[in-house]
Amino acid sequence: MVTKASLYTDIALRMNAVNQRFTASRRQIVEVLAAADRPLSIPEILQATPDVAQSSAYRNIAVLEKAGVVTRVMSSDDWARFELVEDLMGHHHHLMCAGCGVVQDIVVPDAIEHELDKTLATVAQRAGFELQHHRLDLIGMCASCQ
Ligand SMILES: [Zn+2]
Ligand SMILES: [Zn+2]
Ligand SMILES: [Zn+2]
Repeated sequence: MVTKASLYTDIALRMNAVNQRFTASRRQIVEVLAAADRPLSIPEILQATPDVAQSSAYRNIAVLEKAGVVTRVMSSDDWARFELVEDLMGHHHHLMCAGCGVVQDIVVPDAIEHELDKTLATVAQRAGFELQHHRLDLIGMCASCQ
């Protein structure tokens, strides 16, 4: 797991690379995303960052996205949700509810990830494709939609 200090240093460098500053507001947004156990919608981010002006939140998220700090996760509903990119956050998957659209982060045990990579590499190889990594969403019904 990355420490907060090294995470912030890494993010500041990414912001510099696109000529943007890692402002206090952007830091607060990153902090909320880093602490969440799932991707958050903009209303959820706004609610968790009362000090960040609503008018600037959209722009801040767009800048963080452009700098390769934040990524957009699409689910079955129309909400865009945001989380830190995988190389900052760690490899994980998503449980997505086909009923309400809620998204939950899920970490797959290493042994299963290893088996998954082996299987997927075989499938890719058959198509003449060299596997580098994978993304996998699990679609189903959350506990409250069942
Ligand atoms: Zn649901
Ligand atoms: Zn996630
Ligand atoms: Zn995986």
